[in-house]
Amino acid sequence: MTSIIGYADLLRSQALSKEDELDAANYIFSEGKRLEQLSLKLLDIFVSEHESFTLTKASPADIITNLVSHLKPVLIKENVTLQCVCEDGYCMLDTDFFGSLLVNLIENGRKALMDGGTICVYSEMTTNGCQIKVSDNGRGIPQTALSHITEAFYRVDKSRSRAQGGAGLGLTLCAEIARLHHGTIAFESKENHGTTVIVELKGGLA
Ligand code: ADP
Repeated sequence: MTSIIGYADLLRSQALSKEDELDAANYIFSEGKRLEQLSLKLLDIFVSEHESFTLTKASPADIITNLVSHLKPVLIKENVTLQCVCEDGYCMLDTDFFGSLLVNLIENGRKALMDGGTICVYSEMTTNGCQIKVSDNGRGIPQTALSHITEAFYRVDKSRSRAQGGAGLGLTLCAEIARLHHGTIAFESKENHGTTVIVELKGGLA
């Protein structure tokens, strides 16, 4: 939603070239479509408990690079630098869920940066899928909270989380996405230094 709102705001507040205008409109359209698909899938998973997700051959590097290039201009306005370092290769992914995983982790990094900072997304191919790392140099997560942060509705700082628009469900969804890909999610964090989230996805190589 952050990027959709950012691009909509860009369109209404600035005179853009025809090419940039089309790029922004295309991005809003494709992200809107992805969110529509995602809500249908989530309804299916959480309401009917039927696991309707589809693994297809995809390049994590292409998806990450595309997402980062579109989020960059939105985040730079908040003094947040977004970078990515990705290894080429293909593996089996549900691309809607993969996009949501990335957006959630980048969004959490953004919320952890009080006065700007850096978020970096790394991806590597593994023997049966890929490993994604999203690191930020934000406020970090207290050690006592680390084992709880994937629990539904768990928030470290409730008032700050509410003010920033979080419901404590983002990491619950990320953990579920990792599980659907037969994978894992882990956290390394140091208060006032930053956090790295490590996700292993094991849907298979393509
Ligand atoms: P929300 O949807 O409210 O952001 P999440 O499930 O994504 O909730 O995260 C749970 C809690 O973990 C939040 O309270 C958030 O403060 C904390 N958290 C998640 N990622 C980070 C991060 N990169 N740095 C600091 N705190 C984080």
